Amino acid sequence: MRAACFIFCFLFTISYLFPQGMPITPFEISKGKYTATYDECIAYYKVLDSMYDEIKMFECGPTDIGKPLNLVVLSSDKDFDPQSIRKKNKEIILINNGIHPGEPDGIDASMLLARDLMQKPELHNLLGNIVIIIIPIYNIDGSLNRNSTSRVNQNGPESYGFRGNAENLDLNRDFIKCDSKNARSFEEIFQKWKPGLLIDNHVSDGADYKYTLTYFPTYYNNLQRPLNNYLVGLFSPKLKSKLDEQGIINCPYVEEYKSIPDSGIVGFYDSPRYCTGYAALFSCVGFCVETHMLKPFNERVDATYKFMLTFLNVINLDFTFFEECKKETREMGVYGDEFILSRKLDTTRFDVIPFIGYHAKYKPSEVSGKQRLYYDESETQTMPIRYYNYYNVDKRTKYPTYYIVPQAWYKVIDLLKLNGTEMKRLKKDTTIEIVSYYIKDYETVKKPYEGHYMHYNTNINQTIQTTQYRKGDYVIRIKDGYGKFTGDSAPRTNLIDSYYAIATLEPEAPDSYFNWNFFDAILMQKEWYSDYVFEDVAAELLKNDKSLRDSLNAAVARDPKLANDAHGQLDWVYHHSKYYEKTHNLYPVGKVMEYISLPLED
Ligand SMILES: [Zn+2]
Repeated sequence: MRAACFIFCFLFTISYLFPQGMPITPFEISKGKYTATYDECIAYYKVLDSMYDEIKMFECGPTDIGKPLNLVVLSSDKDFDPQSIRKKNKEIILINNGIHPGEPDGIDASMLLARDLMQKPELHNLLGNIVIIIIPIYNIDGSLNRNSTSRVNQNGPESYGFRGNAENLDLNRDFIKCDSKNARSFEEIFQKWKPGLLIDNHVSDGADYKYTLTYFPTYYNNLQRPLNNYLVGLFSPKLKSKLDEQGIINCPYVEEYKSIPDSGIVGFYDSPRYCTGYAALFSCVGFCVETHMLKPFNERVDATYKFMLTFLNVINLDFTFFEECKKETREMGVYGDEFILSRKLDTTRFDVIPFIGYHAKYKPSEVSGKQRLYYDESETQTMPIRYYNYYNVDKRTKYPTYYIVPQAWYKVIDLLKLNGTEMKRLKKDTTIEIVSYYIKDYETVKKPYEGHYMHYNTNINQTIQTTQYRKGDYVIRIKDGYGKFTGDSAPRTNLIDSYYAIATLEPEAPDSYFNWNFFDAILMQKEWYSDYVFEDVAAELLKNDKSLRDSLNAAVARDPKLANDAHGQLDWVYHHSKYYEKTHNLYPVGKVMEYISLPLED
């Protein structure tokens, strides 16, 4: 009833302001000072849904705050079935807003865009080949937590949502661990609709400079060729030149190489915890828009709107070519036998790009008396700066034929399923020779990061082991797909569908399930010994095993601390004996490298 009343009031406002019945947004009513609340935003889209047969709003799964995640679909032929849309060779573009509700520009810009695409014939034509799906506000929780203070450096709007969701999670770090219901619902949408392109709208922090609009595409090498070639060679340059033609000055997202832009800027490496990095695992070309926090809200919304419109224009211009690249990417498959797990910035390689900045200067701080940075906005300087956007391969792994995931790790299995990983179960207990990993070393953050004591710099040792798997354990076929093994020399078209599984199941990958703590239980030893009893056992072992004795002597000679540590030496013997548990630090997901026939359920 309250909602109906609200809609009535809203419609009344609309008819009051626009006698011809054109819906108007709260942003426009406020003359660019105000961002729509969650209720206003959803009420507005309900109006669009009721006015236009080509717009439908769906409720798509829960969020942590208890409200459904909405999806607004703009489809010119009124087809709202993703499968049928894909069959018609239309492209699906996902626009995500309010992942950080304190950065609301995309929320209002998308409301304007959806309406204008319906109302303006020249814009409506853009929907000929494409279907747009809009998440009006992703972090509904944060959006309802409205305030005027949490974005202290931001130039408007008057009030806005908060970055954390109801669990105080940053949803733009949640795409792999999926702690929030929001992330699960997002991934259901993503897997159902399978967008080929994505825009994720934000507002920047950081340095001061002339540009209102900055943005970055997903790191190009995360995409397979020829999609990667298309992004770098055609789409990005064309997008930039079309923005330039309209006088919308723009530059890559400004992440300073060293404290100020004069030192150069660094291309953002979006690992899969981020929206665009997650999308790249599924060959979806993502762009992240970052308007500049110090520019007035209305200018930022305008820049976001124009970016999205230009984006749609460019994809329409190149539509056939883009679709060919996508098709070719799938049909070509993946050559080579290695998957890149992580990359590191190459600080010796850069491009030089023009940059319109302000002079960075220093003066005594009124707070501390020490020197402080400020940007002198009266002195614009156009200068060439270094753009560091080359990342070298850090870690890689060979594609296996299978991963085998014991059913005990059901939280991981659940997420793999959510993300479309095809799995089959063993139909009987089976002993399999596998490559298994021991976690050799890793570091852990000192304070919780997004609800996790996350690991990083993880290293593994590989061994070959014969392992007992149980009926019902899960088998993921990586090479070639189930039942169509074509040999090692053939390109593997299905490998593209396996990227999510590989990026999450390989412990050394930065956003692996291991690093996100899903396997922490393996890191704890379960059985111990009493020193006074094991002393005699250890002495016997050393007496009967000369090489063990020599190894201990060598270790003691190398390490003076160990030389003076009685318990340490006893422990050394324990760890090198048959009594030490083999499952300590043993990663439970097995890897089978060569093809073998396994008894799998249909
Ligand atoms: Zn953001």
